[in-house]
Amino acid sequence: MIEDNYKHQGMRRGLVRKLREKGIYDERVLRAIGTIPRHVFFEKAFLEHAYQDKAFPIGHGQTISQPYTVAFQTQLLELKAGDKVLEIGTGSGYQACVLLALGAKVYTIEYQEALYERTRIFLPEMGFKPFFFYGDGSKGLSVHAPYDKIIVTAGAPTVPTELINQLNEGGILVIPVGDNKTQKMIRLRKKADKKLEKEVFNDFKFVPLLGEQGWN
Ligand code: SAM
Repeated sequence: MIEDNYKHQGMRRGLVRKLREKGIYDERVLRAIGTIPRHVFFEKAFLEHAYQDKAFPIGHGQTISQPYTVAFQTQLLELKAGDKVLEIGTGSGYQACVLLALGAKVYTIEYQEALYERTRIFLPEMGFKPFFFYGDGSKGLSVHAPYDKIIVTAGAPTVPTELINQLNEGGILVIPVGDNKTQKMIRLRKKADKKLEKEVFNDFKFVPLLGEQGWN
């Protein structure tokens, strides 16, 4: 049973306020972040960090993404209830919970076996049930393609062509692309004629996307 008391809820309201101040405007995204208990992804001793707007180590050299980053990427996805979404980089599972709270059908893939094992047990215990996969998500997840939306939560050197191929017409891919220091957030929209519309947003700092189409 998850403990989610008035103190946690108060801290979460504070986080949502901060995200709004920083420019997140999609009320549905803010509401989703306002409902997911981020503290359950943290050891009790680190509770004070759970609702600060920062990334935090989750073991195996990986991080739970900064709430602003989660909100920004989710906002760019323009999710509709029932959208079929592929998330690359399950990590802690927090981002997957936000996508589920917005009514998406979520397929999530993780490259590190230990993280995959941990999260695929932990999330359903909390009541969140995406479809979990273990493997190299830099190539997407062709068996379940196409997807309405694809979100990559690790920094890529380039946009993997396979991800574009696995996107539905009208679909959106959100992916940070750059070097090992900073990445630009990129949104690609696959138009009905299969042409791509590209938008480039701010700089972010992600752990590297590994694998065949990532950093080898
Ligand atoms: N979305 C996560 C969350 O909410 O906690 C944050 C993920 S963390 C910033 C990036 C994750 O991408 C790490 O767990 C890492 O192991 C994973 N990753 C890196 N390369 C990958 C690949 N080729 N396929 C799948 N996952 C990958």
